[in-house]
Amino acid sequence: MFDIQKVREDFPILSRTVYGKPLVYLDNAATTQKPRAVVESIANEYYSVNANVHRGVHFLSQQATEHYEAARETVRKFINARTTNEIVFTRGTTESINLLASSFVESQMKPGEEVIVSNMEHHSNIVPWQVEAAKCGIAIKVIPINDKGELLLDEYEKLFSPKTKLVSIVHVSNVLGTINPVKKMIQIAHAHGVPVLVDGAQSIPHMKVDVQDLDADFLAFSGHKVYGPTGIGVLYGKEDWLDRLPPYQSGGEMIQSVSFEKTVFNELPFKFEAGTPDYVGSVSLARALDYVSALGMDNIFAHEKELTNYAMKRLKEIEGMRIYGESEQKSGVVSFLVGQIHHLDMGTLLDQLGIAVRTGHHCAQPLMIRYGIEGTVRASFGLYNTLAEVDALVDGIKRVMKMF
Ligand code: PMP
Repeated sequence: MFDIQKVREDFPILSRTVYGKPLVYLDNAATTQKPRAVVESIANEYYSVNANVHRGVHFLSQQATEHYEAARETVRKFINARTTNEIVFTRGTTESINLLASSFVESQMKPGEEVIVSNMEHHSNIVPWQVEAAKCGIAIKVIPINDKGELLLDEYEKLFSPKTKLVSIVHVSNVLGTINPVKKMIQIAHAHGVPVLVDGAQSIPHMKVDVQDLDADFLAFSGHKVYGPTGIGVLYGKEDWLDRLPPYQSGGEMIQSVSFEKTVFNELPFKFEAGTPDYVGSVSLARALDYVSALGMDNIFAHEKELTNYAMKRLKEIEGMRIYGESEQKSGVVSFLVGQIHHLDMGTLLDQLGIAVRTGHHCAQPLMIRYGIEGTVRASFGLYNTLAEVDALVDGIKRVMKMF
């Protein structure tokens, strides 16, 4: 598929040590490490181009604008959107969902109308709807899950009524790894005349996502989870939807003309990009998308699937192991608890062995409540992880168990 050792050389941080031990980085669902091409593009852009986009007539400003708009085209191609008018740069998934929640609810919904989310959402796909609910009197309906961590589609269908105005669902759970059948869920929503926002934070880095094939109305994702820089992300929206929605923030860049009597907003996508954008972030995100595209999203998916299957098999050999998220459709996230060992103790002791995992509620407390737990230990894989690192995790867990 691809030469994993060569790939690892593209990520200088992977060869560092922590506490004198080789770093085993298994916290990719939180953020991914950056390849040289991404870091170098940040430096190059600041060293040799840096200017404010869309403003100046001077050479640097024109070049910065060209790079920014070329990055928008790279994102368009990556998710197969129809036009670059459908690609809005944001600070990340959280800002993309906040943008849509504010803009959609306040312009399209009346008190008593409903948004459907699921029991496995990240807080960033729950709280913005609650904030809008407090402001506008909308209600939130929740799709339940089974013990394996799969959405109950029959229950999903039953939630629809004439009051339903939007579905907002996670593509891949950051806790369970479940890959939700979003294409089918979008068909069901569309049959009721309801648009769908897909939280792609955990799908975009790990699999091919084609917004036209899914027929998604909106999609949100973060650059830093797909080997790009922090502070940059994307909201995709179908052009006819984005055209209808009002701006989220206002100020410079998002206007065509301003007088004290009347302001005319800019056209798409600039209507949603108030202020000086993080153009360097956008350009470097495009380099990250080039990087994963060159490896092949299908190859990345297959590699991470192999790691996940191996991890599930080896972890299940450990006595007292409880795994959360056992769907057949599962990506590279494995959440677990062992015996009576607290997740925080397990995470802290694994860290001493050089193994970076995440512990806690993973910003998904309603899901923890569903399972009656406070938190889990989570190992999450990226394209550069190896089977030997899965072995290191399993050996690490066994060492921790001996200490208890
Ligand atoms: N949704 C999911 C499924 C996530 O995993 C995350 C990040 N953990 C987010 C949303 C929020 O992403 P960000 O913090 O980059 O805005």
